[in-house]
Amino acid sequence: MVTEEDIQAVQGLISFIESCPSMFHTASTIAARLEAQGFVRLPEGASWQGKLEPGGCYYVVRNGSSVIAFKVGERAVDDPDRYHFQLTAAHGDSPTFKVKAAPELDGPEGTLRLNVEAYGGMIDYTWFDRPLSVAGRVLVRAGDRVESRLVAPDRDLLLIPSLAIHLDRGVNDGFSPNRASDLCPLVSAGELGAGSFDTFVAEEAGVEPGQVLARDLFLVNRQPARVWGAAREFVSSPKLDDLMCVYTSLTAFLAARNPGCVQVFCCFDNEEVGSNTKQGAMSTFLPDVLARATAALGFAPEDYRRALAKSMLVSCDNAHAVHPNKPEKYDAGNRCRLNCGIVVKEAANQHYCTDAFSRAVFRAVCERAGVPCQSFANRSDMAGGSTLGNLSNIQASMHAVDVGCAQLAMHSSYETAGVCDVRLATRALQAFFEADVRIDGAEAVTFA
Ligand code: ZN
Repeated sequence: MVTEEDIQAVQGLISFIESCPSMFHTASTIAARLEAQGFVRLPEGASWQGKLEPGGCYYVVRNGSSVIAFKVGERAVDDPDRYHFQLTAAHGDSPTFKVKAAPELDGPEGTLRLNVEAYGGMIDYTWFDRPLSVAGRVLVRAGDRVESRLVAPDRDLLLIPSLAIHLDRGVNDGFSPNRASDLCPLVSAGELGAGSFDTFVAEEAGVEPGQVLARDLFLVNRQPARVWGAAREFVSSPKLDDLMCVYTSLTAFLAARNPGCVQVFCCFDNEEVGSNTKQGAMSTFLPDVLARATAALGFAPEDYRRALAKSMLVSCDNAHAVHPNKPEKYDAGNRCRLNCGIVVKEAANQHYCTDAFSRAVFRAVCERAGVPCQSFANRSDMAGGSTLGNLSNIQASMHAVDVGCAQLAMHSSYETAGVCDVRLATRALQAFFEADVRIDGAEAVTFA
C-alpha cells in the first residue's frame, strides 16, 4: 500500500530527475548536494597528501560527468586489518540523441531541423510527437581560457513529428524509423535560417556566437514526471534508468552512518555506450580514487590491495519488471514486480556480477533492514544486458552484487516504476552502507 512517506520519497526523486537533464547536470547536481553536506572537493590534478582525515567527507569529479564521493569513518583507519570500502555504483547517463558538430539540416521547404545521432540503445518511436529540448555542456572561449558552461534551455524547443498514417498505411504493422532521415527534430518552420541554432546556444551560454568552440548537447524529453494509478502505485518519468538508482544510492549514502569503513558512492557516465571511456565504469577512475585516498590516509600500497579483498560493491541499475501484456518474455520463476522491493540480478555468463557469496551478503543485509528482495534472471533462451559491476571489476576487483529497482519500458523516453520502490531501495542501500561487513576471503563474512 502506498503511504504518504512513499509519495514524499518519489517527489524527491522527481525533483532530482528534473535537475539532471544531461549527465553533466547529473554530476553538477550531485556535487551541489555533496557540498551542501560539507563534502570537500578533491581535484584529480592536485596532491591529496595531508588533505584527508578520519571522519572526513570528500568527492572527486572526472570530465564533469562522473562523480565518486567517499566518507572516511572515524575508526576506519585505526586497524589496517579492518580497513576496507563499502561501495555503491549507478550511472548518470540515459539513452538519448546527441547533436552533431555541424548541427543543422537546412530545409526542405524552409524548415530547419537538427542533425542528431543515437547515444545508447533507445526505443526510437518513444521520441516522436512530444516536446523536446537540449541540454549538456558548451565549451566557450573566455579570454585566453576555454571554459565549460552547462546549458539546459527551460522551454519546448524541438519536436520529431510522426508521418500521418494516410501517407504510411503500414505503420501499425511494424514501425522501423531510419535514424538518419526519420528522427531529425524540427526546430523552425521558416522563421530561422542556417546558423540560428549556434546563435541560440551562445545566448543560452551567455556568450557571443564567436566564443562557442564546441558542445556536447543531447535531446531531453520535456514530458513532466507523473505519479499515477488507481492507488498512486506508479511513477512515470524520463530517465528512471538509472537516475532512480543514482537518487536512492545518493540518499542512502548521505544518510548512512558507519564509523568502521570507507563508504563510497559512485555515479558513472557512459554506461549506455559501453562504459569504456576515461570517466566510465571501466576506466581507472574508481581505482585511482580508492588508491589515492588510501595513500593519503597513510597506508602502504599493499594496504590498498588488502582493502579491496575485504570490500564489497553494490552495482545499482534498474531491472525489468514483468510487463502485464507480455509475461511470456520473462523467466518462469526469476521475475520481479513493481513495488515489491529491491531486485538482485544474476546471470551465469557473469554479465551481472552477482554470485552466491555476494547475493548471500546482500540478502542478509536486506533481511536485517526488513526490505524484501526479489530475484531476476533472463529467460534461458534470451540474451540479457550487462551493467556496471562486471565492468568496474576489471580495474578494481572486489566482491560485487548487481541490484536495481523494478521498472517497465526500459530505454523508452518515458519509463515507469513503482512508487514504493524508491523508499525500499533507499532503505536497503542505507542498510548496506551501515552494515559492518567484514569479509574473510570468499568464504565467510561477519556482521557486527
Ligand atoms: Zn541502466
